[in-house]
Amino acid sequence: MEKLSIDEMTNFCKRKGFVYQSGELYGGIAGFWDFGSLGTELKKNIKNSWWKFHVQQREDIVGLDGSIITNPKIWEASGHVGNFVDLATVCKKCKTKSKIDKHEFKTAVCEKCGGELESKGEFNPMFTTSVGPIKEDSMIAYLRPETAQLIFSDFKLIQENARLKLPFGIAQVGKSFRNEIAPRNFLFRSREFEQMEIEYFINPTKTNDCPFEIQNIEVLIYSVEMQKKNKQPELMSLKDALKKKIIMLPWHAYWLSNELSWFFSLGAKKENFRIRQHLPEEKSHYATDTWDIEYNFPFGWKELQGIADRGTYDLMQHQNHSKKDLRITDEESNQKILPMVVAEPSLGVERAFLVFLFDAYSKDKKDNTILKLNPNLAPYKAAIFPLVKKDEELIKISRNVFENLKKEFYVSYDESGSIGRRYARNDEIGTPFCITIDGDSIKNKDVTIRNRDDGQQKRIKISNLKNILRELINEEIKFEKL
Ligand code: ATP
Repeated sequence: MEKLSIDEMTNFCKRKGFVYQSGELYGGIAGFWDFGSLGTELKKNIKNSWWKFHVQQREDIVGLDGSIITNPKIWEASGHVGNFVDLATVCKKCKTKSKIDKHEFKTAVCEKCGGELESKGEFNPMFTTSVGPIKEDSMIAYLRPETAQLIFSDFKLIQENARLKLPFGIAQVGKSFRNEIAPRNFLFRSREFEQMEIEYFINPTKTNDCPFEIQNIEVLIYSVEMQKKNKQPELMSLKDALKKKIIMLPWHAYWLSNELSWFFSLGAKKENFRIRQHLPEEKSHYATDTWDIEYNFPFGWKELQGIADRGTYDLMQHQNHSKKDLRITDEESNQKILPMVVAEPSLGVERAFLVFLFDAYSKDKKDNTILKLNPNLAPYKAAIFPLVKKDEELIKISRNVFENLKKEFYVSYDESGSIGRRYARNDEIGTPFCITIDGDSIKNKDVTIRNRDDGQQKRIKISNLKNILRELINEEIKFEKL
């Protein structure tokens, strides 16, 4: 099946209740989106899965939930105020607006038509607001353009409270705002979005001591050398790339493997992923190496997740600006050190949302849509149907099954239309299992459970249903083994 275009995906999301343009009633507003009933669930499931994998299932990472508006001095220290790296530009020929890195201005041309660019001045990505209702007393403040800086400014408090020992990480999921000059491609570039970020701190003298296993994942690798020589990306294992010194630090290979494995464990397709090394001119001066995870969107290979090496830059900046000592005691050497951030995995929730939808979208032989979302991400885990609407006994059993399952899972109950229609409706929104109660259920106390991806059906006892559903969702048993 050909990949959907971004416009087709936008329409699908609207039609099925995943995503609407914000303020559509009044003509919308560029770069802002509302999540409908199914989109809200999918987004929550993505964030919950990310949090479980990156925080709750680990011993070395804890969470933070920082505020959106904070002391503006944080943004002076971070370089977001008064130190802009981008220029806002307009194409002299086709009038397309874009932002480009200042360094590229002399050589860059319009992405769309190749025309000459006109600079419209420095690009300040931050939305401003004022804190305090009385105008003359109020203070200019900003909506945060990333979650990361809150992690740095609270770093010392969190490290002390959670008694963290190096190496450790601090994670945050939350809204970020950027006054993008050209929001485009549906959710890909919006002005209000969510980020899932980790700052991972290590002792700066131990950049080669990564205690974690690098998973043997094969992925397309697009190194600086391949980009400069106009070569194609190469399929290679991350371990080999490290051995060949294409990936310079074991920590980077580890974080790339960890992030890719999260995506793949949730059904994202390997062939749509590649990792791209930042060119020297893209890389910050303090970074040893920086990689992006890119995805093959319908509009080309684009950044899905950045995995930057931030060195000691941010903590140093906050230390200098706040005049407070942010060093911590390294237990092993018993010395006071300023940790470095060896990796900052930073992922937009909405970009992950698009990836999971694109990779799940498929058609069966009859051209019906099946959204093959991983059961953990699917909005509804199961749909419960009485075979016929008019049989009171069937309705009673069906309602009982529904009431019992909904205590643990988000499930739906549906009695309208033919069974075929009800299956099709649920296939289209990604419900992995449909449970039908029929005449035999009354005497045998069992139900039919149907698997979304291949239409297989099995008969199981109502008393086992909850446990089996849990095992199916967690992929502890295979449907065909039931
Ligand atoms: P770009 O160059 O595309 O503007 P960036 O390199 O500035 O992005 P980062 O600051 O590295 O982006 O942001 C980290 C992650 O946050 C990105 O990889 C992406 O997933 C997400 N993100 C950034 N900007 C947006 C946006 N405008 N809309 C949606 N997601 C975004």
